[in-house]
Amino acid sequence: MEKVITETVVTAVKKDQSGYWHVFAQTPFYAEGGGQPADRGWVDQYEVKDVQTVEGTTWHLLDQSLEVGSTIKAQIDETVRQDHSIQHTAQHVMTAILQDRHGIETLSFGINAEDASIEIGTEQLDWDQVEQFEKELQHIIFENRPIRKMELPEDEVDRTRLRKPTDRTGMIRIVEIEGLDYNACGGTHVETTAQLGTIHVTGIKKVRGNIRLTYVAGNRALRMTQASRAALRSIHQTLSTTNETVAERVLEERTIRLEREREIKELELRIAKAKVEAVLQEDDYVAIHIGKTEAETLTMAIVERVAASGKIAVGVNYGTKKLFVVHDGTHDLATGKCLKAVLHELGFGRGGGSNKQAQARFDSLIELEKAMEEIVRRLQEGVLPC
Ligand SMILES: [Zn+2]
Repeated sequence: MEKVITETVVTAVKKDQSGYWHVFAQTPFYAEGGGQPADRGWVDQYEVKDVQTVEGTTWHLLDQSLEVGSTIKAQIDETVRQDHSIQHTAQHVMTAILQDRHGIETLSFGINAEDASIEIGTEQLDWDQVEQFEKELQHIIFENRPIRKMELPEDEVDRTRLRKPTDRTGMIRIVEIEGLDYNACGGTHVETTAQLGTIHVTGIKKVRGNIRLTYVAGNRALRMTQASRAALRSIHQTLSTTNETVAERVLEERTIRLEREREIKELELRIAKAKVEAVLQEDDYVAIHIGKTEAETLTMAIVERVAASGKIAVGVNYGTKKLFVVHDGTHDLATGKCLKAVLHELGFGRGGGSNKQAQARFDSLIELEKAMEEIVRRLQEGVLPC
């Protein structure tokens, strides 16, 4: 891309919390406005962070202060300018087609880091309509229509052709896309519609009774297509699918997963029942269950069932490093308070709970096992610190 360098002079500087704002005798920079972000670029070796126009004066934000009267070289970042021009010109084409062919008005426009968006005055728009709309846009792009920019005195502006009336006076900047659009606009634009490359709608969202369309044009569209393809390829690799079979296959996978989850739950219940019976064989009124590989939900289920038999149930789960103490309310034991007191004495683990049910969490399995042994011993010997 060609480098255009403007040599000019600093005419004013002011400081605020963002940095140093400079005015130059001439500027190649486009200031933020009309939904289009400001240009980026450089003044000498310094990066231009923002450009804003206040009451007709254009201010450039730098981290450094330059001397008033000094000569500087200003240069815009052409890649960013081209990208913004593409997204903005794409909006002209979208707005024109929506209004002239579908009677839908554009209400607002904005460019974000990843995509751009327009809010349009319709309540309903589906993906079939969007695909049709994209074909119409692509047709205009293929036609390579010239885009002319003109500075016209206000009395030479053809107001009957203006897309939107303007209250500007004096010299008015007109942007015309041949046979499609005639617009008073101060933004930046590409030279022909072919330079848009393509326009892809990426999202349809209902807002305030209208529709917000997000879209990408030019290189953004290429990047999005490549990212989508990469995502899809990784799914195809995992599931051995193709574009034609992937949707059905993903639904199938989901059904299978839900079915498996139901099966696992049933199995867990059966295991819980068997393990509870084993624990209840023991004579002691303190029953211990150690869950080394099972899910925490299963440990909980076993501990609760054991407690329902009238025993004081102590359970541990290795996966989550958690300890549970539960009883059915027939024991004179405030489990939450006791557990807390034991942990306090041990100096590790965090936990607590109610009178009938308490749990604690540990940083290591060694701590978990130590705490379990200590609690079981104290329950059996009746030497609790609470
Ligand atoms: Zn424009």
